[in-house]
Amino acid sequence: MRTSFLPFHLPLVGEEEIRAVTDTLRSGWLTTGPSVRRFEQQFGSFVGAAHSVAVNSATAALHLALDAIGLQEGDEVLVPTMTFAATAEVVTYFNATPVLIDSQPDTLNLDPEKVEAAITPRTRAIIPVHFAGHPCDMPRLMEIAKAHRLMVIEDAAHALPAYFGDDMVGSIGDITCFSFYATKTITTGEGGMITTERQDYAERIRMMSLHGISKDAWKRYTSEGSWYYEILEPGYKYNLTDIAAAIGIEQLAKCRDFWRARRRIAERYHDAFADLPEIQAPVSRSGIGHSWHLYVIQLRLEQLSATRDEVIEELKAENIGTSVHFIPLHLHPYYRTRGYQRSDFPVATAAFERMVSLPIYPRMTDEDVEDVIDAVRRIVLHSRRSTLAPLSTRHTADRVAVTERS
Ligand SMILES: *Cc1c(COP(=O)(O)O)cnc(C)c1O
Repeated sequence: MRTSFLPFHLPLVGEEEIRAVTDTLRSGWLTTGPSVRRFEQQFGSFVGAAHSVAVNSATAALHLALDAIGLQEGDEVLVPTMTFAATAEVVTYFNATPVLIDSQPDTLNLDPEKVEAAITPRTRAIIPVHFAGHPCDMPRLMEIAKAHRLMVIEDAAHALPAYFGDDMVGSIGDITCFSFYATKTITTGEGGMITTERQDYAERIRMMSLHGISKDAWKRYTSEGSWYYEILEPGYKYNLTDIAAAIGIEQLAKCRDFWRARRRIAERYHDAFADLPEIQAPVSRSGIGHSWHLYVIQLRLEQLSATRDEVIEELKAENIGTSVHFIPLHLHPYYRTRGYQRSDFPVATAAFERMVSLPIYPRMTDEDVEDVIDAVRRIVLHSRRSTLAPLSTRHTADRVAVTERS
């Protein structure tokens, strides 16, 4: 057993990022300026998007995206229940309603058929989340959106880089929102990016990200700029700093290497757990490129004597940090008081009770990965019911499992 605790995540930041930050600090230009513009351009060409706007979080990005499509009070926006708080909370900023959607059993992405069934005359948009980095069925979602005149705003907080066919996430939906939070696939500490093919959206988003003041307001302290500005709309304060963008430029340059490292870890986990029927490994459908931001296993609890929470505690006792992505929105007090119930989302509810996110990040050494594998195997083999239980008790075990699940 390992002697030091392996955190669930650690960012990988090198001398390049440190030098970029100190250079920025010495340059005298700290907030939105030349590094932000460079980061936006490089990010846009990386994902193949016509326009990119850097902001200070993915939450800000989602808020600005909904503003750009003109979301109104009373509108409805379809979001998966299996996501982080941000995806749905931004809808409430407009006094609009987030309508929760259940997951597909294999990818845990929102289910397109359930999306279609939830559309009403008030529905304005869909916010698909590429859960763990597995792209949603974008062709199907775009087809549904087109048929019902809905906008598609992708929450791509997990999906850098990710592909549907040859198309990279960031070049598919009407607007795509990325996160550079400390735990994401590349980081600027806090940060986000919006990509879109539509110039009108990009211009509106850029303006609203900085107080709704006239174009190129950030230049007003340079020789190219002027002291004069006009407030065109009451906007927000969502701009990214040059300090953060300088980190982002270096992280983006390493994005493919990071991806390769995560893919390798995913393959090792996959091989290591293949002979354990108690573990349902994450799927990767054919024709997609998975970012492997998260590696979410699902425990077949009916075959184990331990609960998910006990497995997490046992992993912690073995010095392995894990997490759970996510507690579905409908199980939280706020959404419960809006009338949502456990049984409304059977797929997400069942998945939640069985899921554990294992560490997967480029800073992990081969030994770290081996330690996770050893600990998981030890715990599963120790709490396995099927093979060790004599035939006479197996029936009882099955009955217990059924009560546990209900
Ligand atoms: C992290 C995350 C966000 C929020 O990102 P921030 O940059 O922290 O605002 C949104 N959606 C999902 C699915 C996330 O995992």
